[in-house]
Amino acid sequence: MTEISSTSPTLVYDIGKHRYLNITARCTLRCQFCPKHNGSKQVHDYDLSLNKSITAMDIIPLLGDVKEVEEYVFCGFGEPTLNLDCLLQVAHAIKAQGGRVRLNTDGLGNLFHRRNILPQLSQCIDSLSISLNADTPEGYQRHCRPKLAHSYEALLEFIHQAPQFIKEVQVSAINGLADVDIARCMVIAEKNGCQFKQRELDKIG
Ligand code: SF4
Repeated sequence: MTEISSTSPTLVYDIGKHRYLNITARCTLRCQFCPKHNGSKQVHDYDLSLNKSITAMDIIPLLGDVKEVEEYVFCGFGEPTLNLDCLLQVAHAIKAQGGRVRLNTDGLGNLFHRRNILPQLSQCIDSLSISLNADTPEGYQRHCRPKLAHSYEALLEFIHQAPQFIKEVQVSAINGLADVDIARCMVIAEKNGCQFKQRELDKIG
C-alpha cells in the first residue's frame, strides 16, 4: 500500500510484511537522534509529515485486508499513545478482523495521561515495543531531552508494569549512543520480564 496521493499525508504504509500506522506527529521527547529533529520526516520513501489531527475514521478505511500483512504497527515520527482514542479504536478494528497489532511507544503514556493506560492497551494490543534508550536518567536527558518532568522514572515504571498486562513486551535501546551502556539496558529489560532488542543508530522503521 502506498500513500493516498502525493499531496495527502502518509497515514498507512508498508515495509515488508508490516503495515505501519502514522497517527500523530506529537511527542513529549525531542530525541537528538530523531530524524524529524535533523531535518527529515522521511522513513524509507515515505514522508510522515502530518498537517492535521488524525482520527480513527481517517485510518480505518485505509487498513486493507488483515490477511495481506503479518502485523499492523503503530509507529511514526510521533508517540502513538498521545492520540489514544484513535489508537484504541483502530486497534480494536484490526483485532475485530483477526489482525495482529504492535505498538511502538516511548513508554510515557501513563505519565502523559496521568493514569494507567495499560489495561486499555491490553484489550487490543498483541505486542508492545518500548524505547528505553538509556540506562541512566542523565543519559536519557542527554539523548531523549524529555519535556515532562520525571520521564525516565515513569518510563522505568511503565517497563515494570507492562508485562503484567501484555504478553509480548520488547524493550529497545540504540547501540552507539555516547554514555549509554547497552548491556545495562539489556539488564533493565530482562529483570522486568521483557525481551531486549538492540537497535542500530540511523536505522529507523
Ligand atoms: S520518541 Fe520517536 S518520534 Fe519522538 S522524538 Fe524520539 S525518536 Fe522522534
